[in-house]
Amino acid sequence: MDVRGNLPRAWFLAFACLLLSGASASGQTEPVEYNNLGISAYNAGRFKEAVAYFEKAYDGARDNQTVRRNLCNAHQAIANDLAKQSNFADATLHLSKAIGVDPENPSPLVQLGSYYLRMDRVSDAVFRLEEAIELRPGELDAHELLGEAYYRDNDLPSARVQWEYVLAMDPKRSELRERYDKAFREESVESDFNRAGSRHFKISYPKGMPYPLRARMLNVLEGAYWDIGKRLGGSYPPPPIQVIVYDAQQFTEATQMDANIGALYDGKIRAPMTDGSGQPLPEEEMKRRLIHEYVHVVVRNQLAEKAPWWLNEGLAEALSHSLEASELSLLHKAFTDGGAFHLSDLEAHQLKALGADPLRLAYAQAHATVSLLLTRFGQPRMTQFVSTLASGLKAEEALAKVYHRTYAKLEEEVRSAHQ
Ligand SMILES: [Zn+2]
Repeated sequence: MDVRGNLPRAWFLAFACLLLSGASASGQTEPVEYNNLGISAYNAGRFKEAVAYFEKAYDGARDNQTVRRNLCNAHQAIANDLAKQSNFADATLHLSKAIGVDPENPSPLVQLGSYYLRMDRVSDAVFRLEEAIELRPGELDAHELLGEAYYRDNDLPSARVQWEYVLAMDPKRSELRERYDKAFREESVESDFNRAGSRHFKISYPKGMPYPLRARMLNVLEGAYWDIGKRLGGSYPPPPIQVIVYDAQQFTEATQMDANIGALYDGKIRAPMTDGSGQPLPEEEMKRRLIHEYVHVVVRNQLAEKAPWWLNEGLAEALSHSLEASELSLLHKAFTDGGAFHLSDLEAHQLKALGADPLRLAYAQAHATVSLLLTRFGQPRMTQFVSTLASGLKAEEALAKVYHRTYAKLEEEVRSAHQ
C-alpha cells in the first residue's frame, strides 16, 4: 500500500527583475546594459540567456545588489522549470549558485529546502529552511516547510510548533490543517514509543516490543536496502528512512485505515506487527510487508509521482513474494468470467474508490503483470523501463519503447498465462 501524504504547496516563484539606472558612458558594454539585456531575456522566459547576461553584469559590478538579486532570480526561475520536470538534482545546483550570489535572500533557501524535501534529503532541508527563517523570521512558507521537515524526521513536537504558528497566522491553509490533524493523531498514539535504529532506518516502536523482534525487523530492512536497491538499478534512498511499528489497534488509530490494510508508506513506513488478537505476525508475513513497503520507498525515490499504480504496487508485490494460490484463483476467475481490469484503469495513484474485493483483484493483476515482465525480460529491462518513466514518458509510451508492446498486448499475455 502506498498512501502519499500531500506535500506542502509547491513553492512557486514569481519575480520581477529590476532595472538599473544610469547609461553607458563609454563604447564598451556596461554592466547596466548587460543587466537590461538580462531583463529582456528574463521577461521573455529565456532564463538561461538571462543568466548569461546577468553574469556579465555581475562580473563588472560585483557589489551591486540589484544585479545580484536579478542573477539570483534567474537561477531560481531555471530551477523552477527543472523542478516541473522533476529534475531536482539540476534544480538544486542552480539554487546553490543563486544562494552564492545573493546570500541575504531567503527565497532561494526556501525553494532549495522544498526540493530537498521532495528528494527525501530531510536533514539538508532542515538546514536550509532554518537558515531562511534566520534571515527572515515569520516567512510562513518557510515555517510550514520546516514543520514538514521536522515531521519527516519524526520530531513531531517540533513540527507541531511550526505548524501551529503558521495556522495561527493564516488559518485558511486547509491542506496544512489536514496534515496537522494527522500528525496530532499520530502523536497521540506514538508519543511514548521508543526508538532504535540501524545504518539506514530509524524505527519507533511501542514500549514492550521485544528486542529480538525489533532486531529482526531492522535486519529485514537493511537486507532490503541493498537487495531492492540493486534489483531496481542501483537506487539507494538517503537515510534515515523512518519506520513506525504499531500493534494492530494502534495502527488503525494512528492511520485511520481499515483492518484489511497490511501496512502502508506515506513518507514513513507504518506497519502493525501484531494481528487483531494481539499475536505477533508470523515471520514470513512481517518480512513480506516490510519489503513491500520498502519497494515503495525506492520507487518514490526514483519516480516520485510518475509511477503508475500498477507498476508501483506490482513491483512491491513481485519483489516481496511470489503469486499465492489465492491470487492465482482470483486471476483465473477474473480472466475466465470477465471482470479483469484494463491496465489503463490501474494507473491512478490511489484506487480509493474500489471496494475490498476489486482492490484485491487489482493488486493480483498488478502483481501478475510485473511478474510476467520480470520473468520474461529480466531485471535490466525493468530498470530501463523505470528510467524511461523517470525521463517523463507516459506509462504506455514507456512500455512501447522498452518492451515493444501496447497495454492491450500485455493484458492479453497476462490473461493467457492465467486463464
Ligand atoms: Zn503497496
